[in-house]
Amino acid sequence: MFVQNIQAGQSFVFRLPHGEDLLQALGDICREKGVQTGRVEVIGAVQSAAVAYYDQEKQEYARLELPGEWEILSCLGNISLKQGEVIVHAHITLSDSQGRVYGGHLVPGCSIFAGEGFIQEFQGARLERDFDSTTGLPLWKE
Ligand code: ZN
Repeated sequence: MFVQNIQAGQSFVFRLPHGEDLLQALGDICREKGVQTGRVEVIGAVQSAAVAYYDQEKQEYARLELPGEWEILSCLGNISLKQGEVIVHAHITLSDSQGRVYGGHLVPGCSIFAGEGFIQEFQGARLERDFDSTTGLPLWKE
């Protein structure tokens, strides 16, 4: 098990830019504010969406396109480093006009309609991702 003690660093609230890519925009905020570790949450809506599902047997992501407009009921994630680059790892739950819900691992392809978010920076932790041969995923290394 991997456990680290962290302290709260800076906090930011933000409104996301209409028409831009959700995952890209979250990474841009982190880079602009110098946040390398932390957590992120967003609510709002997208004009089209894409998510991914990790196939544990094949050890690869399958992409799911979700055309049309969706509410972002919840988008939660963390911020860490992979090969020195800031990586936002987030999952998103989306609802349609009937309240039906889809979701998955956030990938490029979610076009922001409107969004409001929060980032909490962590201090005292060094969160670096590295390839994990058991899962095939870039997990936090000890
Ligand atoms: Zn994920």
